[in-house]
Amino acid sequence: MKETPYKTYLEESELPQVYYNVRADMREAAGGQDHAPMLHPGTLQPVTVADMEPIFCTELAKQELNTEDRYIDIPGELIDFYRMYRPSPLIRAHFLERLLDTPARIYYKYEGNNTSGSHKLNSAIAQGYYAKLQGLKGLTTETGAGQWGTAMSMAAAYFGLDLEVFMVKVSYEQKPYRKTVMQTYGASVVPSPSATTEIGRQMLAENPESSGSLGNAISEAVEKALTKEGYRYVLGSVLNQVLLHQSIIGLEAKAAMEKLGEYPDIVIGCAGGGSNLGGLMAPFMQDRLTGKPAPYFIAVEPASCPTMTRGRFAYDFCDTGRVTPLAKMYTLGNGYIPSANHAGGLRYHGMSPILSQLYHDGFLDEARAVEQTSVFEAAIQFSRTEGTLPAPESAHAIRAAIDEAIKCRETGEEKVILFGCTGNGYFDLSAYEQHINGSMTDYIPTDEDLLRGFASIPSLAGIQ
Ligand SMILES: *Cc1c(COP(=O)(O)O)cnc(C)c1O
Repeated sequence: MKETPYKTYLEESELPQVYYNVRADMREAAGGQDHAPMLHPGTLQPVTVADMEPIFCTELAKQELNTEDRYIDIPGELIDFYRMYRPSPLIRAHFLERLLDTPARIYYKYEGNNTSGSHKLNSAIAQGYYAKLQGLKGLTTETGAGQWGTAMSMAAAYFGLDLEVFMVKVSYEQKPYRKTVMQTYGASVVPSPSATTEIGRQMLAENPESSGSLGNAISEAVEKALTKEGYRYVLGSVLNQVLLHQSIIGLEAKAAMEKLGEYPDIVIGCAGGGSNLGGLMAPFMQDRLTGKPAPYFIAVEPASCPTMTRGRFAYDFCDTGRVTPLAKMYTLGNGYIPSANHAGGLRYHGMSPILSQLYHDGFLDEARAVEQTSVFEAAIQFSRTEGTLPAPESAHAIRAAIDEAIKCRETGEEKVILFGCTGNGYFDLSAYEQHINGSMTDYIPTDEDLLRGFASIPSLAGIQ
């Protein structure tokens, strides 16, 4: 194999013109249903576009329920926006390989090259586009670590929409400059739980010291969208529509690897709600679902929020206030509150229904939980060799990629490893600081902790 270049870019003219909807192939592979349908929390019947319309933009609700169309055209105005920062580079980690002395060839798709600092902008801009098309005034959303709120602020500004962001309180306090970026783009940012919603006031009454959770913030943002004329709610992960938009990552990565005459043996992504991994692996998963040779897929999650490795596969609410539809997914329970000492993002209690079903059916081969101190060791190794300071979330994937490359050193196998480097870590320096000064600890929930979370999963007699 001749030395591959450090960076491989597609031409602008080679930008994908369609999103790939993996559900069409999941449905065919299963001979009927892709994943269990989302259920209306009141009727417990599968949700319809009409059920979703008060909360979501109509076109996005249609995408959410679309199991038919394998490919969905990317509107021209969106392609124009993508050209500002896409195609993103596919990078051969030559320097990391050298450090590890591995025969493996390690590639990563880098999504940190835009101001939001992560892949989140790929879906934010699509969601902003459809909201504008519908003539909405504004949007509400939540943000955990802050990347989604930043991306959505950029998208809302681009389309002239108002945006209200409920930011998980612990991040609001740890990352004040995230708030400033969002405000620069014109968003209003509220720490959650807040006194501005009914559900937030209830949460504060129960626990005035609450540091918040994504589940709480989602409830607040949904309530706000339902009570403000001309507003809808948007979400940055978990949903089918988000994985659909993120397929652009995988489509570009696959095309760039083809240019190099490469095909991955292993595809690795970190998994919070499942959107970057869902997007990166989508076109490779199509190979698997259609019976072709395909990579081994690994989802990496934090040991402190072990949704896939220790969670239950069950219908659960997507939020703590129990206002969202029920999704069949791996979950720690909507009442699970992750440890506040966990610095690395990926704190959501549930997981994308698409990823959950693929994992349950054995198409997604492995879920792996890693501890945060070992994640930051990987992040530092990576930044010192590859130059990029990765987001802590991305470093979960880096940890697994390094571990796989070390296995190759031991066995002599020349595997091709592809992982998603989803973002940069410039807003996560307090976490890096904790790691460097030795104050970072690992937190692994006990079985009792998990049982407390599982107790919040609804029993739904006759359904689960
Ligand atoms: C949000 C985020 C993640 C995790 O979300 P997924 O939906 O699982 O992809 C990973 N990395 C970065 C940088 C993020 O901002």
